[in-house]
Amino acid sequence: MQIPYGRQWIDEEDIKAVVEVLQSDYLTTGPMVREFEDAICEYTGAKYAVAFANGTAALHGACYAAGIGVGDEVITTPITFAASANCVLYQGGTPVFADVDARTYNIAPEDIERKITEKTKAIIPVHFTGQPCEMERIHAIAKKHNLLVIEDAAHALGATYKDKMIGTLSDMTVLSFHPVKHITTGEGGMVLTNDEELYKKLVLFHTHGITRNPELLTKNEGGWYYEQLELGYNYRITDFQCALGISQLKKLPMFLEKRREIAAYYNHAFAGVPNLTVPYQSPDGDSAWHLYMICVPAEWRKRLYDDLRAAGILVNVHYIPVYAHPYYRKHGYAEVCCPNAEAYYNGAISLPMYPALSVKEQDYVIDTVKRLLRAYEAER
Ligand SMILES: *Cc1c(COP(=O)(O)O)cnc(C)c1O
Repeated sequence: MQIPYGRQWIDEEDIKAVVEVLQSDYLTTGPMVREFEDAICEYTGAKYAVAFANGTAALHGACYAAGIGVGDEVITTPITFAASANCVLYQGGTPVFADVDARTYNIAPEDIERKITEKTKAIIPVHFTGQPCEMERIHAIAKKHNLLVIEDAAHALGATYKDKMIGTLSDMTVLSFHPVKHITTGEGGMVLTNDEELYKKLVLFHTHGITRNPELLTKNEGGWYYEQLELGYNYRITDFQCALGISQLKKLPMFLEKRREIAAYYNHAFAGVPNLTVPYQSPDGDSAWHLYMICVPAEWRKRLYDDLRAAGILVNVHYIPVYAHPYYRKHGYAEVCCPNAEAYYNGAISLPMYPALSVKEQDYVIDTVKRLLRAYEAER
């Protein structure tokens, strides 16, 4: 038996939707792109959406639209995928890491405040594992210091914060449709915003900075005419990927329900188990449960990881603090240390969490974790 930590769910409907587009006139930008963007807007309540080739490109687009450039600092969390900080580097800006809250593992608002300088331009909070950050406090800080907020919601499609859907709370919100995320397009991403100016910048940026929009052209030489107004990229998504996204989105409520059931089952099974910390659940929102993290004593983490893998349970660790990577170490982050982030990282393991995980598989994971922890304890 092999149980991965995350896995996509693709059914006949999804396959049919993709095949239909493959047989149509458009492979890349066609009607499905807009339909997918509109469907995500309808689901989240966001006003505008721009689909991107992947979540990382979407984060890059958001940093561009936010006007991040050389000399600008952007505060984010070290407990995230590297892309949340790399997107700032792409624009020539400087990521600054604020420590996480020791209980939620999300960026700590009080440390954001401590890291603000006159160069700070934006905050990129990441809803780690799908649990919303303390957005009210983050928005209050942003307002006080005149900063933009770009939510990295790659883990949080379908999460709510104070009864509001993630996707409408901040200047921009970024999604990923990588296969381990809530819904997939293979590779794919999106930026959501309620701001028309940001939306226009995102549209230009993801297609070379080129436009045919008569309202934007400086002149018009004829029907063939287009202009490059900015230096953009080819960050477009394909039509058949968006057809998959539309089909997947229909199943999102079921996916979320399954993830929430799996989380509740783990929480119940692990309640009171010594040497094991279950995820904190915020009273401010409803997690989308992208990941289910447990923390164990640091001296057991590697052993537990290896033993679970040997038992066919393909656990993972999310994440190595971003500043600890050699690239960051070499580029000015050698002395950076966020104590809560490191303490968390040293004990963390992500257990299998995906909609198709069966009760039988989950029981096997739970029994194996408990058995191993008991064995380690007996040796102490
Ligand atoms: C997956 C992920 C991304 C990047 O998404 P891709 O679609 O893989 O480029 C960014 N941030 C976080 C937190 C992620 O988990």
